[in-house]
Amino acid sequence: MNRRYRKTIIAGNWKMNKTLTETKAFAEEFKPLLNRPRWCDVVLCVPFVNLQAAIRLFKDSKVSIAAENCHYESSGAYTGEVSAEMLKDIGVKYVIIGHSERRQYYNETDFTVNKKVRAALDAGLRPIICVGESLEQRELGVTMELIAYQVKCALSGVSAEKVRHVVFAYEPIWAIGTGKTATSQEAQDVCEFIRSIIRKLYGARVARAVTIQYGGSMNPKNAFELLGQPDVDGGLIGGASLKPDQFMEIINAANQD
Ligand code: PEP
Repeated sequence: MNRRYRKTIIAGNWKMNKTLTETKAFAEEFKPLLNRPRWCDVVLCVPFVNLQAAIRLFKDSKVSIAAENCHYESSGAYTGEVSAEMLKDIGVKYVIIGHSERRQYYNETDFTVNKKVRAALDAGLRPIICVGESLEQRELGVTMELIAYQVKCALSGVSAEKVRHVVFAYEPIWAIGTGKTATSQEAQDVCEFIRSIIRKLYGARVARAVTIQYGGSMNPKNAFELLGQPDVDGGLIGGASLKPDQFMEIINAANQD
């Protein structure tokens, strides 16, 4: 983290978890835990159907609510889809773009990621762009090439003014939901590398202002060390964000000096 230049952001990704009833129960348990001053921003990414309720429930608690995906067109004949404008209009602040589960199960490509990133920014949402390598790609030694490709594709056509609103999440696929975490050095190396790509594209001032998270089995035990790395500016947290006490422990780990 480097709070002098950029925001630390701790974001929970609920994926396809929690009914409306469970969302209300989470808020009841979690909100009283948010009583200490915080140095990080807190975001909860929830299923579409629970967005409005979550926005209401967390209205006075400085927790921003995010969607987990959006379409790249603003309206039209796309049955079952939701546009960035629709999200913005109900008070959503962030949207996850290009999560590896969407790349794997729903044919999300670097091309659609780019279109969605631009649509989100145009609508006034902050995209949380997920990039990361598979185990095979890491073992083949092509992690950095792949990350550079994903970052450049995601940012194609994005202005320097708008790129300040972008958040990156480095999420090695082999670490998501597996209990295997990247070492803090591996996370730092890739987050630093992502910043170097942004620097080449937009210059040093822009690059140092962009928040770059790590995601992949982050939990209360490993959060402190991961967040202690200079280029790891927060976390995108799946499993551990479903439990108020665990999520809060990770938020507290971001409060380190
Ligand atoms: C994720 O869903 O982005 C994620 C990192 O999940 P988990 O923390 O469960 O590995």
